[in-house]
Amino acid sequence: MTGGLLGAAQEAVSYGANTFMIYTGAPRNARRSPLEKLKIEEGWAYMRENGIDSFVVHAPYIINLASFKEDTYNLAVTLLKDELERAKGMGSELVVLHPGAYTERDLEYGVNRIVSGFDSVLTDDYDGPDICLETMTGKGTEIGGSFEELKMIIDKARRKDKLKVCFDTCHAHDAGYAVSDDLDSVMDQFDEVLGLDMIEVFHLNGSLNPRGAKKDRHANIGATADNPKGADNIGFAAIRELAHSRYAEGRFLILETPWLDANTNLYKEEIAALRAGERD
Ligand code: FE
Ligand code: FE
Ligand code: ZN
Repeated sequence: MTGGLLGAAQEAVSYGANTFMIYTGAPRNARRSPLEKLKIEEGWAYMRENGIDSFVVHAPYIINLASFKEDTYNLAVTLLKDELERAKGMGSELVVLHPGAYTERDLEYGVNRIVSGFDSVLTDDYDGPDICLETMTGKGTEIGGSFEELKMIIDKARRKDKLKVCFDTCHAHDAGYAVSDDLDSVMDQFDEVLGLDMIEVFHLNGSLNPRGAKKDRHANIGATADNPKGADNIGFAAIRELAHSRYAEGRFLILETPWLDANTNLYKEEIAALRAGERD
């Protein structure tokens, strides 16, 4: 976001993308520049010229609505409220959020805490962006490692009409779902628990680790051992299948694959390969 919305849109177009996801500032902190500085109008003008009609915002990682600590929880509520307003001000309708981690408490505590956070931000008259709860690996006390956990949150929230899901392929694979070899059964499970229409965003990532490892280390799609960031355990075919499936139709497909260096930017290559359906 150093170049504002305009810069982000230009970068996306340079990769051959027709949408993108941004952090409205550094992902790991909450320092944010004012909306006036984000080149929003210029960004939208550029997007229109280049066939981009929407984009996704990812909330900062430091938001933990599941925390039992008063200050952490209160900060999370404030930051989430801010981020939803910023996203709305920038013209985005979806904010991806990691549900949170319950640390020294338990799942039920964490779920209830997240729900109370949502209830205080998503008030009856709230009309901002939807929140997309991301599927997580379930490492440590992280909530969202199963579809059922996301359902627990959504079922209890007052404004469930504003809650959607972001399906991260690396996270689901690391959580133990058979994304790599039985996509249909994974999607059937998702459909039974949450309903496929809840998915608004897919994060298309490879994983550096075997299924169920609960590590959350993203790999380039279909990367082999000669990739400096490591080999992918999900495989190009599975991600390609997903990208061209009915599950993905009309959804945001976002890469969060490793950045190598300015000279070997794989995003363009990954997007082209997924569109073409083959990898050279
Ligand atoms: Fe995420
Ligand atoms: Fe993700
Ligand atoms: Zn991840």
